[in-house]
Amino acid sequence: PLGSAAELAEYFPGGEYRPKPASEVSDLIANSVFGTNFSNHMASAEYEPETGWTNQALLPYGPLQMDPATSVLHYGQEIFEGMKAYRFPDGSIWTFRPAYNAARFNASAERMAMPTIPVEQFIGSLAALVRTDRDWVPSMPGASLYLRPMMIGTEARIGVSPSRSYRYLCIATPVGPYFSGDFSPVSIWVTQKYHRVGPGCTGTAKTGGNYAASMLPQKEAAALGYQQVCYLDAKTGKNLEELGGMNVFVVHQDGRVRTPALTGTILAGGTRSSIITLLEKQGHQVEETQINLEELVAQIESGEVVEIFACGTAAVVAPIGKLAGTEFEVELPVGPVTMQTYKSLTDIQFGLAPDTEGWMYQL
Ligand code: PMP
Repeated sequence: PLGSAAELAEYFPGGEYRPKPASEVSDLIANSVFGTNFSNHMASAEYEPETGWTNQALLPYGPLQMDPATSVLHYGQEIFEGMKAYRFPDGSIWTFRPAYNAARFNASAERMAMPTIPVEQFIGSLAALVRTDRDWVPSMPGASLYLRPMMIGTEARIGVSPSRSYRYLCIATPVGPYFSGDFSPVSIWVTQKYHRVGPGCTGTAKTGGNYAASMLPQKEAAALGYQQVCYLDAKTGKNLEELGGMNVFVVHQDGRVRTPALTGTILAGGTRSSIITLLEKQGHQVEETQINLEELVAQIESGEVVEIFACGTAAVVAPIGKLAGTEFEVELPVGPVTMQTYKSLTDIQFGLAPDTEGWMYQL
């Protein structure tokens, strides 16, 4: 069992509470581009092979000074996480399954030949940041404080080998609900031209390079009028994997739900894992399996598949209204399973329903 947030926050001393009116935070969310305003502080720690993690502190938010030879700038040895702090109706602040993200962060670190960080320090960094910058956690419905833990290789040396030194940072930006008002479906381009990752690559790690590789496919899909890209497995080019930043679920008419199995090329989403649990509790049979694109398109056309949705920390659940590729285009309605899943999960995250699974951690 983890210590309390007050205890873990002591790993990152420093920082100073500065009051911020709630109206300023909601104005920022309403009037600025997603992810461009950051709270007053950043949690920081440094790693040297001789000492391990040191210099843990809560510092004023601000730019980093870097040698141009810093390894992350050349070879991309970098990992990150995406989480949120939510305000409950009583004003208390909570985060969702932080140990899940800590474990995934360390799994990403291992894949990228980077040092792991103790779970207590990872969660301690979030606790210190959010407890000090607590006024930045919005109280508008559906809004939250997005948390971005990250680690970069900092050794100043040109040469392809793991950096000797590393920096850990966590920053925070207030975000509004992904869907303002109605639950509008997203359109997806299934690319047969590009792959995100392949067998043995870095798909299970949350590392910058995977996202860098997704920029061009995303840009081309946007030019065709689609909002997101869905990738197929690189080995056969036949099976659905995931979107650039979300996992996918397929709902059958008989109540069965399927999602691509974690075969080593897909990021294991915390939202995905939680939705499997919730759907099973609601009586759905959930299969983690292979989803063949051609069969799926036929099942949508025949009415056997009735809903498809994507999921991830940012949007929680996003209904997929259109799925298209070079040789097909199918449309789907926003269905009840998608809407119920969104509500069940967000009600837990915002403290509107009992946390039956013990997923929430008070910051
Ligand atoms: N797949 C990818 C590639 C992602 O970047 C994300 C976002 N972290 C997800 C899936 C969803 O993961 P989570 O539910 O943990 O946010």
